[in-house]
Amino acid sequence: MPTRANAHRQGRVSLSLCTKTEQSVNGAAACRGKGRGERNFLHPCGLRPTFVGRLGCCPAARETARSWRLRSDPLNLAGHARRRESVITTPNDASQHLPSTIVIGAGVIGLALAWRLAQAGCRVSVYDRGEAGHGASWAAAGMLAAAAETEPGEEALLSLTRESQRLWPEFARELEAATGLPVGYRDEGTLVVALNRDDAETLRHSYEFQRRLGLDLQWLSAFEARRREPHLKPGVAAAVFSPADHQVDNRCLAHALVAACRGAGVALYEHCAVREVLFAGGRAAGVATERGDARADIVVLAAGAWSREIAGIPPAHLPPVRPIKGQMLALQMDPRAPLLRHVVWAPRSYMVPRSDGRLIVGGTVEERGFDTALTAGGMLALLEGAWRAVPAIEELPIAETWVGFRPGSRDDAPMLGPSGIDGLAVATGHHRNGILLTPVTAALMSAYVLSDRLSQLARPFDPRRFAAPGVSGQAEAAQ
Ligand SMILES: Cc1cc2nc3c(=O)[nH]c(=O)nc-3n(C[C@H](O)[C@H](O)[C@H](O)COP(=O)(O)OP(=O)(O)OC[C@H]3O[C@@H](n4cnc5c(N)ncnc54)[C@H](O)[C@@H]3O)c2cc1C
Repeated sequence: MPTRANAHRQGRVSLSLCTKTEQSVNGAAACRGKGRGERNFLHPCGLRPTFVGRLGCCPAARETARSWRLRSDPLNLAGHARRRESVITTPNDASQHLPSTIVIGAGVIGLALAWRLAQAGCRVSVYDRGEAGHGASWAAAGMLAAAAETEPGEEALLSLTRESQRLWPEFARELEAATGLPVGYRDEGTLVVALNRDDAETLRHSYEFQRRLGLDLQWLSAFEARRREPHLKPGVAAAVFSPADHQVDNRCLAHALVAACRGAGVALYEHCAVREVLFAGGRAAGVATERGDARADIVVLAAGAWSREIAGIPPAHLPPVRPIKGQMLALQMDPRAPLLRHVVWAPRSYMVPRSDGRLIVGGTVEERGFDTALTAGGMLALLEGAWRAVPAIEELPIAETWVGFRPGSRDDAPMLGPSGIDGLAVATGHHRNGILLTPVTAALMSAYVLSDRLSQLARPFDPRRFAAPGVSGQAEAAQ
């Protein structure tokens, strides 16, 4: 079955080998320091002695610092989902330790974490080199697809994606209540459509795999599929309905998170790139920015696909994140008579109807570094894939085209927690699930910053799983 997971494993793949959700175009497998502490800092809050040693290398963490890939987990091969963890607790000792925190990157991941930490009483600063929320978080489609998107090899990720999906309705409500801004959360569910008998066989295969994982999915006949979405092409073969896979308007989400952060007292510095992480006494102590230096107890690296571009961090402790290009477009429907209500996945592209009438069509998956070009092939693939499923789109005007960069890790799962350097934490690598994973990432990472402990749910995503043999959890080179 030509899945995205297979495409990554097999190296270069052609457009025709794409996953049902996203087109792959040329997809390759897809302590000790001093000196810096004396700089002039923007926030002279100082390092509290109580935090020396925080976010470092505890014995429990060392246990998880071995280098392994989620897909080589024997549990995956056995095809079992991991035990579901549903509780993310804020540590008991949180009230004693409120570390001042600098977050590098104001995407949804950095903003949501900053919001949670500010709510807990921490002093938080967020830096973005551009406008907040305008990285991958702006480019996304906003699908919250924990069920229909699960492919073989991603079972370990499922516990995280399902937990975040569970958190989403309350997260959306809380964010809207805090800001008065809508986030466009919609709960009509997702339809995965098979256009012919071959597609139906492939769909049946992934449906059975996903059902074995305990996911709530319903097989629909062609008639039932068209009853739900009358604009599907008449000859559609079958469909799967995923009642739990919803959507949010990711751009509204980013706006709301910015407002929530400001409302909670977060200092947000836009158009202010972080150049370097600063170290003092063997631990991260702040950042050097375009406008000067700033210090804090904890620095969190959440710069998405650009996370390796920050200087100062020893290479062995940089998260192995890379940009995975996605071309996208939006068509304009009449909001009073939208062509679709559900998120619809056709074999070669997906469509996400927004309440304002925009129909988001995505998305290519390309290993081309930070190449921002929109290509004829990319646009053609998206439009043709959408048109084959919903022919009526040919009448719609094109409202927008864009390119974004998913922050991909080596195993397509996020990196959450310790970097291996005291005082420096990582929250990146969310690849194609960063919008879905926003609530759970904010919960897990804020708990980690407050307690210096990774919860059970976060442990499989410890960034140190990628550490080269011989690289300890503790940085020695940070000077
Ligand atoms: C085409 C496409 C479609 C997607 N569709 C979905 C989807 O349907 N559902 C889903 O769940 N996910 C989707 N994703 C994935 C999701 O968008 C990402 O995983 C998520 O947005 C990552 O958020 P982030 O905050 O880590 O990164 P970003 O949003 O990229 O934020 C990183 C920020 O760091 C800033 N930065 C970089 N360097 C510096 C520096 N030196 N100093 C300061 N700031 C810096 C950047 O300016 C940026 O604002 C999609 C992504 C793409 C590209």
